Amino acid sequence: MNIRLQAVTRLVQLAPDARLRGCEDACLPQRHAGVACSACSAACPGGVLKVSADGFDLAPGCLDCGRCAAACPTHALELGGFHPDCATARSISPCIDCERVPPAASPAGALRVPCSGALRASQLLALANASPDSTVTILDRGWCAECTAGGATHPAAARVDEVNSLLDITPGKPARRVVLAHHPLPPSLRGRAARDPGLERPLGRRDFLRQLVAHTASAARPDPTPAAIGSAAPPDGRTRILPAERLALLQQLQNGTHGQPLHAGLLQQIEIGPGCCNQQVCARSCPVAALHPYQDEDISGVAFEPALCIGCGACAANCPEQALRLVAAPAPRALPATTRLSRHTTQSCFDCAAPFVPRGARGVGEDDDPRCPACEKSRELGRSLFAGLF
Ligand code: SF4
Ligand code: SF4
Repeated sequence: MNIRLQAVTRLVQLAPDARLRGCEDACLPQRHAGVACSACSAACPGGVLKVSADGFDLAPGCLDCGRCAAACPTHALELGGFHPDCATARSISPCIDCERVPPAASPAGALRVPCSGALRASQLLALANASPDSTVTILDRGWCAECTAGGATHPAAARVDEVNSLLDITPGKPARRVVLAHHPLPPSLRGRAARDPGLERPLGRRDFLRQLVAHTASAARPDPTPAAIGSAAPPDGRTRILPAERLALLQQLQNGTHGQPLHAGLLQQIEIGPGCCNQQVCARSCPVAALHPYQDEDISGVAFEPALCIGCGACAANCPEQALRLVAAPAPRALPATTRLSRHTTQSCFDCAAPFVPRGARGVGEDDDPRCPACEKSRELGRSLFAGLF
């Protein structure tokens, strides 16, 4: 049985007349109790989007900027009429401009977006990989401070810093870079945001990647994405959510660098201490199956797939023994392979012969008369009842 990772399948309008669409099946807090994610709400400049276990709540006043969609780790949100994969595949231009700029004033072939803060890190990297000089330029027209979706800081500034810091780790290599360039236009030229009908036509990820391949020399290299994603099964057989943005980012980072180490901030490590009792609550809590159980004859435990981990912390928060710790990787390195984090040997109960896993991961032979928790409890009860008689 394989873990099934579920991508976005059904996007529905979040309010009548809203361009914003969402898929509750792909939203972390709506799928997994105890997984706190509010990345989209935090990114909403108008403060009108809220998400809870009960669903999406989009109040009137949505600005159609798409910044919530760019923040979502699972691609559970999308701005109708602006499918960024479609847009990037169509324009293959190293230049990004605001949709409100009159088309004649935009550089030829520029990717015109509702808000440059609505581009995901993986999309900026895809453009950098496809650009002839490995550079993507976002044009700052000087309007963002007055725009309701903008503010004092340019909406793309944080994403530009994030992407450049991910690219910065290997000095001396041909640099891929995202640049925020100030090219002001008079405010009188600012028009209304216009939908591009060509963007309404959805483009599959495969077609998108095929088009990128045609434009980038690095695409001829072998795909370094780990092949083993989704190779093991959770005991409950439940579908987990595809961490779409993380996988797209890893793919794009490795497309351009082929084997270079990854930024340490992208890599989580998990440590499981001796208090682990192998209940595997962590694996059941993990929304993306980065942690999953394994069983080899009489050995069982939990394995970790770093490519999938989005660092949500649900595993550590739900561990009943507080035996699991999530730590950031200390230095840049290659993407580690799937590793087994805990190892427990199944034993037969001395009293009832039922198979059980001893608490604390003790090995066979460390306890001469191992007993399952139920028999151990009975013995303790018996001892306390009859203690006064002897
Ligand atoms: S960012 Fe995505 S997963 Fe997180 S709450 Fe918003 S829609 Fe759900
Ligand atoms: S393994 Fe990673 S993704 Fe899974 S619950 Fe832990 S922190 Fe979240």
